[in-house]
Amino acid sequence: MCISEPVIPVMIVDGQPVYVPGYETWTELSQTRWFQGKRIFGEDYADLVAEHLSLVRRYPEFSLGFRELPAFGNDWVILMLLKTHAGPQRVAIEWVTCEVCGWYGVIANPMSWDVYVGAADIPAGLERASKLPVVTCPKCKSDLPRHAVWAEPRMNADKI
Ligand SMILES: [Zn+2]
Repeated sequence: MCISEPVIPVMIVDGQPVYVPGYETWTELSQTRWFQGKRIFGEDYADLVAEHLSLVRRYPEFSLGFRELPAFGNDWVILMLLKTHAGPQRVAIEWVTCEVCGWYGVIANPMSWDVYVGAADIPAGLERASKLPVVTCPKCKSDLPRHAVWAEPRMNADKI
């Protein structure tokens, strides 16, 4: 049986090739979960991937990609990218609560070491990320408990 695979654009991020499918292609890949003979994600990651894709659908500044990491054997590893003036930025998606007002929502953290695994120069990536403007709580403007360069707008967070 021969199944034609989608053509997926590749971006070089921090010296590492990252496959970045569009949202429609991701919908397709979420069913098959395989690309070029390697698994994109397993059953245990299905909910996490769905949450990331929900953000990609609602916020055009995000794209979800995946990259190859030899240490992870026969699997691809997903990677969230945030568009910035300096180009695509690797970010970890985290859920945080504001300790001042109780706002609970999604943030993008570019200082998580995990997202740089596979980058050609990890310290340089972290250094560049540390210079991005930090955002505060969307509701009360207090500092958030985690390093955030993006936080879900309050209007949308309140709908959840
Ligand atoms: Zn707050």
